[in-house]
Amino acid sequence: MAADNEAREGGSLVSKRVRDVLEGTGESWTRRMFELGRRLRAQGGGPVFDLSLGNPSLEPPPAFVAALRELVEDPTPGRHRYMTNAGFPEVRAFVAERESARFGLAIDADDVVLSVGAAGGLAIVLRALTDPGDEVVVPAPYFSEYDHYCRHADVRLVAAETGDDFALDVEAIERVLSPRTRIVLLNSPNNPTGAIYGARDLSRLADVLTGHATQDGRPPVLVEDAPYRDLVYDGSVPASAMTVYPHTIHVTSHSKDLGLAGERIGYAVISPRLADRRTVARALAYCNRTLGFVNAPALMQRVLPKVLGRPDGRVDVGVYARRARRLRAGLVGLGFAVPEPRAGFFLFPRLPDAVVARTPEGQAADVAFAERLVARRCIVVPGSAFGVENHLRLSVATDDAAIDGALAAIEAELATR
Ligand code: PLP
Repeated sequence: MAADNEAREGGSLVSKRVRDVLEGTGESWTRRMFELGRRLRAQGGGPVFDLSLGNPSLEPPPAFVAALRELVEDPTPGRHRYMTNAGFPEVRAFVAERESARFGLAIDADDVVLSVGAAGGLAIVLRALTDPGDEVVVPAPYFSEYDHYCRHADVRLVAAETGDDFALDVEAIERVLSPRTRIVLLNSPNNPTGAIYGARDLSRLADVLTGHATQDGRPPVLVEDAPYRDLVYDGSVPASAMTVYPHTIHVTSHSKDLGLAGERIGYAVISPRLADRRTVARALAYCNRTLGFVNAPALMQRVLPKVLGRPDGRVDVGVYARRARRLRAGLVGLGFAVPEPRAGFFLFPRLPDAVVARTPEGQAADVAFAERLVARRCIVVPGSAFGVENHLRLSVATDDAAIDGALAAIEAELATR
């Protein structure tokens, strides 16, 4: 009946901007593969080896549960009301102190805007800094949701190649800069590759951006999306542009490192050296309010000072590290090229050359391979979803049985051809 109504009224009520996505292939490979996995599970017939989604598989740490209990019991009136759109001042001050120590900068509470996860942080940054038609440069492969974030902000995503092992290729970025470049968006540690961009490359990029002339003379802003920054396997702190480029905004969340993806807490940190920092902070708070977020969830804001920095306030990154190494060893044994995993939830192996070579003309080898794996009850995301063909993205935010099952399915698929 819905279709009849559409026909009678002369088409869907959905905007062209959104309809184009819903009707195209671009809705989200990750979501599509996840849905496939869900359907397979619902049908029964044995386990599904689902490595499609970066949904934290570790539960939040004990300090989180204790903090929630304490906060829920707190009888102080007004704990759940609106607050200033940037978030509770005392929580922003707490975050500012931690970030100052991390970056060696004098960040104050007014440089911090609490957000609805990293995605909410990116949404307000994009809206606050760009005008329609501006360009956002992103090294590829990149988190596929960036296409959609840019679409909503009416800006053009311009991809730049990366180098060996997906390292930052500063020359490639320089080649695609234009007078309309407003933002260079970096995601390190990276989804989907796990790459961590090096300090030297970030310094070189800072030099390039400093020398780049935009059409209105304003410097491009470097936006760092860093929700995996505290999931580095050796416990080190990844390099950041905050220390080398003044016009930097760092966006992060606790979706991954505290396993709170459903609770939606993150923040944007504005470099104290950013031109116009106070106006930018006001703009971010304004966008929080008027994009409909209003503010980051009150309860989750108050949790942060009670959890962060405590010994029982972190998940065991070693679990993800062990799974990543186990998966990589299996894939390398099967002929995939995979850089040593260093951080985060994902591996981005390159398909063996033989698989690429025998894929029929006109088909993307990664899409065809991922689709064939579904028949073996194994769900992965094709690299094309992230702007780079001939690769697969595999999540280690799962359990050992799923990893072993996926490896067996991949081995069986390789053996059939
Ligand atoms: N950026 C990257 C690179 C991600 O991988 C994700 C989530 O998968 C996000 C942003 C969104 O994070 P959040 O759940 O904190 O909004």
